[in-house]
Amino acid sequence: MSDGGFAIAIDGPASSGKGTVARLVAMELDFAYIDSGAMYRAVALFGARHGLSLSDGPALARLIQKMDFTFGFEDGRFTLVVDGKDISRAIRTQKVGQGASMVAKLPQVRGALLGTQRGLATSQGVVMDGRDIGTVVLPDAQLKVFLDADLGVRARRRYAELVERGVEVGYEDVKSELAARDAQDAGREHAPLAQADDAIVLDSTQMTPEQVTQRVIQLARDRGAF
Ligand code: C5P
Repeated sequence: MSDGGFAIAIDGPASSGKGTVARLVAMELDFAYIDSGAMYRAVALFGARHGLSLSDGPALARLIQKMDFTFGFEDGRFTLVVDGKDISRAIRTQKVGQGASMVAKLPQVRGALLGTQRGLATSQGVVMDGRDIGTVVLPDAQLKVFLDADLGVRARRRYAELVERGVEVGYEDVKSELAARDAQDAGREHAPLAQADDAIVLDSTQMTPEQVTQRVIQLARDRGAF
């Protein structure tokens, strides 16, 4: 599993700031960063490109067996390269996010990604974020954080991010899409969005990403990460 390296699991609902915090923590501690949500997004993107139904678990699982996921760090940003193509940007649309939430319900898809996710958390320290990292993927992680924030605050952050990227969206649409995706992620049968019993809950509603990052780093230090 985490194979001796220090593992930090960060779970939480959509747009709670997990990704931003996980990236900052990984950079500061010189750990690998694995964005597990990006893997579900990649499956939705490649599944659609291959003309597969996003509810066909066995076909998607076969596709995953052929996909090669490489997480990297280039020019100051974390990247995900699949089959030689940098798809970091292509997976950041609302449509791909919804597709990811659909394929993430399927046990065949979760099963097919699990081994790869665990394999990526090898000897070097790792920060992995998602919905089920502390509960299923890395149950032995030395530090588990569940990062939450009010829906309105999460929707405002997500809306600002999309507007900055030039995407034309309405705030209310962003808010209802987040609420729907959270309900689907928390309500599904397999590996739902959930807080591990031994997770530390942080609420980022009134905190900046830097404050949350420093808190996580302090918790990691207390547990002997460095
Ligand atoms: O984190 P992100 O919003 O990119 O994740 C996209 C979708 O992937 C989530 O809505 C969720 O359905 C799924 N996911 C998951 N388990 C994870 C990470 C993401 O089911 N560990």
